[in-house]
Amino acid sequence: MKLLIVGGVAGGASAAARSRRLSENADIILFERGPDVSFANCGLPYYIGGEIAEREKLLVTTLERFRTRFKLDVRTRSSVEAIDRSAKKLRVRDLASRREYEESYDKLILAPGAAPLRPPIPGIDLPGIFTLRNLQDVDHIKERVDQGVKQIVVVGAGFIGLELVENFVLRGIATTVVELQDQVLPPFDKEMTTPILETLLAKGVTVLLGQSAEGFEQTADGLLIRLKSGQRLPAQLSILGIGVRPENKLAVDAGLEVGPRGGIRVNEFLQTSDPDIYAVGDAIEVKDFISGDPTQVPLAGPANRQGRIAADNILGRSLKYRGTQGTAIVGVFDRTAAMTGASEKALRRANRPFRKVYVHPAHHAGYYPGAEQMTLKVLFHPQTGKLLGAQAVGGAGVDKRIDVLAVAIQAGMTVFDLEEVELAYAPQFGSAKDPINMAGFVAGGLLRGEHPQVDVEAVLSAPESQRPFVVDVRTPQEFSGGSIPGAVNIPVDELRSRLEEIPRDPEIAAYCQVGQRGYLATRILRQSGFSAANIGGGYKTYKLFCPSAT
Ligand code: FAD
Repeated sequence: MKLLIVGGVAGGASAAARSRRLSENADIILFERGPDVSFANCGLPYYIGGEIAEREKLLVTTLERFRTRFKLDVRTRSSVEAIDRSAKKLRVRDLASRREYEESYDKLILAPGAAPLRPPIPGIDLPGIFTLRNLQDVDHIKERVDQGVKQIVVVGAGFIGLELVENFVLRGIATTVVELQDQVLPPFDKEMTTPILETLLAKGVTVLLGQSAEGFEQTADGLLIRLKSGQRLPAQLSILGIGVRPENKLAVDAGLEVGPRGGIRVNEFLQTSDPDIYAVGDAIEVKDFISGDPTQVPLAGPANRQGRIAADNILGRSLKYRGTQGTAIVGVFDRTAAMTGASEKALRRANRPFRKVYVHPAHHAGYYPGAEQMTLKVLFHPQTGKLLGAQAVGGAGVDKRIDVLAVAIQAGMTVFDLEEVELAYAPQFGSAKDPINMAGFVAGGLLRGEHPQVDVEAVLSAPESQRPFVVDVRTPQEFSGGSIPGAVNIPVDELRSRLEEIPRDPEIAAYCQVGQRGYLATRILRQSGFSAANIGGGYKTYKLFCPSAT
């Protein structure tokens, strides 16, 4: 078996190592255009900031190890230029000698990744405008930063953009981030990003939402970034983090099928439209685990797993790729945001039915020092309770909850299962009722009809005539610190004796700080003959939607 692999980082390196483990005899050649294989793209922003101090640490596996331990023929600075499918040959260009040669294959794995977008706007090729994909990019950016940079403009507030923002701020640089959408971290639902936006602002980052870079101009001091609004931002450096596009040229030129957004089409065995050619990683179109629709998800976990599966299938096993859930996490200063499965906006776009709950629990027992509050949003099917997606934002413990939910989603579990899952507990690690259980209780209660809930956006957007009578059941002190507009304050402990103050006619929407007292109030009201629902997640959820309201 002669196996050729194009691309030597996440997907390609995984495929190569797995192939060797499965076959001592296979002839395996790995081609990589750059000088390095298997480097840690995900660590690059932290090398700029200094958290990762040594460049060598970014090399997950060295060329030498690949060659000696895995007996792989690794050819770096080797660009694969074309695939001749009928002759089953690659045309390879040795970038050092500029020599071109052919290499034949029995099976081929394409793992060329995705290239950062560089839109054709005026001045885009001026010096000082970078993208970040590999060690060479990071070397250039770090060199400039080390020389002393006063102002940086990051275009794009996605995962990589915000990781860079954090690291530039840690280097003492005045940083502006420009984002086309009206929120940071566009894959998340907007309200879940409120704490991240607040953190950025608190750290002195200038965040310009709903804006795009329209052009770059050279000045004596560096660059001027011209925004759509007409605003001009001075900077010595600008980094574009506005997304990636699959590196599909080889595949397209060879007549392999690609999807509408350019991802190389593969079947569940990761075979392209040519059965002898497999493709993995950022370059491919995958099946969305929740919707089953084709999509593109550039993440390291899927790329690595796909590399392994492609190798397995080539070397005699038969493994199906289950699809990509989009489980992702980002740290922004002391905040963490993580998500898995479908977002609310994706479900709305696809017109799929769902319900949602918000809970705001502490990441471990509240009585144990250091408990940090998180917000957990869980999306599920309105009839079956099947989990569709989850997002969390907070500090410690966010990663663990999203990972648990990612497994639950992949296992096809429901919110009723979340009520039952047994998770590790001691006060410094969790709670006897873990945030996962709490989300299950709230969602399960909602679906069983024990705990009627109304979404705060529905209350706020209801026409005046249909607006529920809103009762704030917190203490007067809490109420005076801010409330949902139009709410009447009747603390839950006084509710039973003050029922006559509540009209019987319209629906009642009760709320407290996070939902627990609102739930009790709802139970009291319903058993007293009122038609009442709890505003899911309480005032804290309201503040995610309306952060500047008092
Ligand atoms: P890549 O890792 O990009 O590797 C493809 C390789 O193929 C490249 O080195 C390229 O030079 C080579 N190549 C392309 N065409 C040819 C050719 N014709 N001939 C020879 N070689 C070729 N994901 C996460 O899940 N979590 C994170 O925290 C995270 N952080 C990231 C931070 C940064 C700064 C970046 C850039 C990415 C990050 N990612 C993260 C994304 C993750 O790195 C990618 O999803 C993953 O590397 C994709 O793997 P891949 O093998 O498909 O492509």
